[in-house]
Amino acid sequence: MRPLRVWKQLLGLRRTVIEQADFDERDGSVVISVRRRARERDRCPHCRRRSPGYDQGEGRRRWRALDLATSLCFLEADAPRVNCRRHGVVVAAVPWARHDAAFTRAFEDQTAWLTVNTSKTAVAELMRIAWRTVGWICERVAAEAQAQRDLFAGLTRLGVDEISVRKGQRYLTVVIDHDTGRLVWAHPGRDKRTVHKFLDLLGKDRCEQIQLVSCDMADWITIPLAERCPNADICLDPFHIVKLGTDALDEVRREVWNDTRKAGQAGLARELKGARFALWMNPERLTERHQHKLARVQEINNDLYRAYLIYQQLRMIYRVPWQQALELLDAWLKWARRCQLRPFVKLPKTITNQRAGIDAALRHGLSNARTEQVNTQIRLITRRGFGYHSPWAVIALAMLSLGGLCPPLPGR
Ligand SMILES: [Zn+2]
Repeated sequence: MRPLRVWKQLLGLRRTVIEQADFDERDGSVVISVRRRARERDRCPHCRRRSPGYDQGEGRRRWRALDLATSLCFLEADAPRVNCRRHGVVVAAVPWARHDAAFTRAFEDQTAWLTVNTSKTAVAELMRIAWRTVGWICERVAAEAQAQRDLFAGLTRLGVDEISVRKGQRYLTVVIDHDTGRLVWAHPGRDKRTVHKFLDLLGKDRCEQIQLVSCDMADWITIPLAERCPNADICLDPFHIVKLGTDALDEVRREVWNDTRKAGQAGLARELKGARFALWMNPERLTERHQHKLARVQEINNDLYRAYLIYQQLRMIYRVPWQQALELLDAWLKWARRCQLRPFVKLPKTITNQRAGIDAALRHGLSNARTEQVNTQIRLITRRGFGYHSPWAVIALAMLSLGGLCPPLPGR
């Protein structure tokens, strides 16, 4: 093997000619001079079309490659510009690096892999780059993988939700494949426009293939989906329905507690406060102490005890077979309407308005649980300190980790 070809093998280069290998006198790094093979020359980095040369650009350029043992390593080559018919004047494509990158493809792939699989500090230390740079690399790697793969192929069941990625300031809309639990799309914003953007990408044909969507009651999700996915049953997440009951029960509890306190019955008020957890618990999980508390609630305040029963009955709907659940829900609505507890009396209207979505969720046994799992992972990713320079970095890392886009380690 000729000595120069050893470098080619070592660096995993393809469609590239090695011209020379040398040390940079200043810092002892290895600098490999390369050029594109004839067939690779003058190509647009976006469409790969052969294009007329434009100028020499900024002359010789360096790309950081994977370290060679203990030394830094760079590729060096000309970086002329071409004039593409579609993309205008751009730096010509190189086989060893992504467009606009100061690193080789192998370097970026390894960085992305490490970011998915190790800690922030480990990546930055090992690769000798700033954390911010890691973010940009992940964005490039994820964008390329996304362009090459069709994550929407065969989608029939979706989970759509929002997630806040910076203490209530920034929101992302996330879409998962409900069958595989895989993240297929994430985008900043939580509004109709964002959902429409997703549906535009999905395209009319694939919109028509969607059969089920799991989401909460937010109009900005349900309205665009109902409009554009004509064959989809929108399933409202049980948790959000039960939460309506939880909130109503809490309202009753607070009212009762305030009344008791105002009436100067401090002892009773304290007892009611102490019963709080017992009210929310799953009845099957009540300990003896909690049972006792509930019995006391029944003794001292009938309203609160009734509110408790109504709330538990609402939860029950999600624990029985669906045909029975629909009957149970009808009976529950009647009960709630007549119960004379203000926070509960207003619920039937809300629930009736959302009835189709509630019934669909019961019928299909669908919930947001899968989407929530993905959301928890995204929250972990953001918490790992993905320097919030842009939501796109968070999205890129989420797509690499949870969308199955992470590249293999170079050479494997
Ligand atoms: Zn082009």
